[in-house]
Amino acid sequence: MEIDLDLLTYLVGKGSRYIEGAVQGTTYLPRTVSGVGTYLLDNDGNVDLLTSKQQVTYEKFLKPLLFAVPCQGTSGEGNCPGSGVIERDFLLKSYRDDILCCRSCRAAKAAAIPA
Ligand SMILES: [Zn+2]
Repeated sequence: MEIDLDLLTYLVGKGSRYIEGAVQGTTYLPRTVSGVGTYLLDNDGNVDLLTSKQQVTYEKFLKPLLFAVPCQGTSGEGNCPGSGVIERDFLLKSYRDDILCCRSCRAAKAAAIPA
């Protein structure tokens, strides 16, 4: 799967809190993960160019943040009526808004807020 470079740029930059959250409780440092992300950005997201050690870091932390972010559901408890993951083309917006929901939950949430 091709990496969304805009999304990766966000994660190693303004969205570094998501990387920090991902490494929490592990022996990895956020800068190690960001470093792998930056290296990928410099190489057009070509994962094949990573060393085996970098690949492990990528698989463990970056890949889930880029491809498999669970939808928190409308109640924030993961009760998602959809696929349970956030659509890839909706991820960047979700990260930016700090609302980790898929499109349908986001719409449901928006509809539930009284005007
Ligand atoms: Zn959802």
